[in-house]
Amino acid sequence: MNLFDVYPLYPITPVKAVDCTITDDKGIEYLDLYSGHGVISIGHTQPDYVAKVKEQLDNLSFYSNAIQNPLQVELAEKLGKASGLTDFSLFLCSSGAEANENALKVASFHTNKSRVIAFDNSFHGRTSAAVAVTDNKKIVAPLNAQQVVTFLPLNQIDLVETELKKGDVCAVIIEPIQGVGGLDQGTTDFFQALEKICAANDVVLILDEVQSGYGRSGKFFAFQHHGINPDIVTTAKGMGNGFPIGGVLISPKFKASYGLLGTTFGGSHLACAAGIAVLDVMEDKKLIENTNKVSEYFFEAIKAIPEITKVKGKGLMLGVEFDFDVSALRKKMIIEKHIFTGGANNKNLLRILPPLTITTAAIDTFIVALKESLAELKA
Ligand code: PLP
Repeated sequence: MNLFDVYPLYPITPVKAVDCTITDDKGIEYLDLYSGHGVISIGHTQPDYVAKVKEQLDNLSFYSNAIQNPLQVELAEKLGKASGLTDFSLFLCSSGAEANENALKVASFHTNKSRVIAFDNSFHGRTSAAVAVTDNKKIVAPLNAQQVVTFLPLNQIDLVETELKKGDVCAVIIEPIQGVGGLDQGTTDFFQALEKICAANDVVLILDEVQSGYGRSGKFFAFQHHGINPDIVTTAKGMGNGFPIGGVLISPKFKASYGLLGTTFGGSHLACAAGIAVLDVMEDKKLIENTNKVSEYFFEAIKAIPEITKVKGKGLMLGVEFDFDVSALRKKMIIEKHIFTGGANNKNLLRILPPLTITTAAIDTFIVALKESLAELKA
């Protein structure tokens, strides 16, 4: 059987990874400044994480959600403490799209409405709840026959208010920092006004922290830079450091009932062990502090590259923009300089999402390689 060919692949086969270093099948070492789309939060094969997951695997990896699982309770308590959302409840699932799908479902049940407001260039997943943008072409797959998604530009609160006043909207879903779309962000004024008009119109405000959460922005959740209180927060990528796990964090204003949400794999013993280990390591190694320290260093160091027209993002969810398509630059960085970076729908943007354990020395390595690559491409 062949693989269904939906991904363009770089000719590299990683076989091992430790912290921020990936080794391929030829023994070549790469600096990982992309974390597989921001998934590796605490570093590849972090020893405490590996030990915890292995121990769980030896005992019990999975049983159904109809049987008590104390690891889910432990994970929820630790996540509440780490994020400050102690009075929220946690629904566990297995991916970002599944988290958003369930968040929209809660909003739809709660309001008995179905229209969703999202923002231009947003990305919330590729399943039936998808609001996806590929090559600036919108792909809108409705959640069900009634669910319609309306896209609006970021930072235009009047347009949002006009839509909410029509009375058929269940939820506004927004990334605090756009990931795949290219790191655009709402302003604090916009987020605060959004919170107010959602509350005034009984519309559920969903913050999609699938990529920006778990410390990546320099706060546990990126919406916390704006002093707002969302109704629902979704999370996934950094939550399991490579183990598939997602979460829907639900404010106390929503009442749970049996059968409202469900999943087979979500919250398995193994997933919870991975999730608990990530939170423990984040705390032990003070990874949010490291994120802020290295981010500050990055914003200073990157000034050494005059070809960059804009530096975007927060914490270690970063991008550097040029006035040309960066595909050749990115390829050179991987193949010749052995540094993994990421792309975006904005073809001029090179994305940098390293593990949160990254050092300032690695940033220096990146800057030197970027300088050399730009000079070589010009020559
Ligand atoms: N939401 C955001 C902000 C994302 O960046 C992504 C994935 O890139 C998703 C949702 C979908 O997550 P998953 O691919 O785990 O379904």
